[in-house]
Amino acid sequence: MINNLSKKYKNILAVNNLNFKINKGKIIGLLGPNGCGKSTTIGMMLGLIKPSQGSVMINGLNIENNRTEVLEKMNFISPYIELPKKLTIEENLKVYGRMYGVKNLKDKIEELIEKFNLVEFKNRKTGELSSGQKNRVSLAKALINDPEILLLDEPTTSLDPDVGDYVRSIIEDFASKKNATILLASHNMNEVERLCDEVMMMKRGQIIDKGISDDLIKKHGRKNLEEVFLKIARG
Ligand code: ADP
Ligand code: MG
Repeated sequence: MINNLSKKYKNILAVNNLNFKINKGKIIGLLGPNGCGKSTTIGMMLGLIKPSQGSVMINGLNIENNRTEVLEKMNFISPYIELPKKLTIEENLKVYGRMYGVKNLKDKIEELIEKFNLVEFKNRKTGELSSGQKNRVSLAKALINDPEILLLDEPTTSLDPDVGDYVRSIIEDFASKKNATILLASHNMNEVERLCDEVMMMKRGQIIDKGISDDLIKKHGRKNLEEVFLKIARG
């Protein structure tokens, strides 16, 4: 739950008095033009960015004072955190797996490396991978602790359509098997329509509309979510 959350960077009000609640097991899309405050919001939800005002409550705990406890059950993909470049894929997954105290880590790493088609690169340094390959490693890392809550900041932007589609099915599958709660920031409208139960439309640091995508499409008198996005972004 997000209460009156704001972030001011010097004179830029990146997030402006945001309020929302995500129910357990739901996948919520966060849409909005570049610079509207999506990543800042997610960064504050992870305790990576200190809010100027307001609070982030996760499972009833304030993230600022209970970071370790809360983060154990979460995972994420965020542009604020890059995987150590000098470690290989396998080493990176090992480090993160240990940090989260994952049981049967060896099997888990093997499963994820296979799932994300990384077998042939597993001994390559993460800094020497293409952006699409790195992206898949970040996703593998995001699932390493079977998180209850997953915050995904543009998880498929650098993937080709085929891999993007495949990754979407992994996320879909993970969400339904684990009943995970997911916040997904994305510019891919098909992805949002396919994965999300509801979407929040963000503009200039505020949520200006939200709902089930079909309802938003009807309400705005548009043909699809992309047109709703354009209407809101330009309007
Ligand atoms: P989005 O993820 O929706 O593209 P961001 O949350 O990254 O948006 O950025 C929101 C606004 O805050 C933008 O105007 C951006 O320039 C500004 N901003 C983001 N990070 C910083 C920072 N570290 N310092 C100053 N301004 C920032
Ligand atoms: Mg962003």
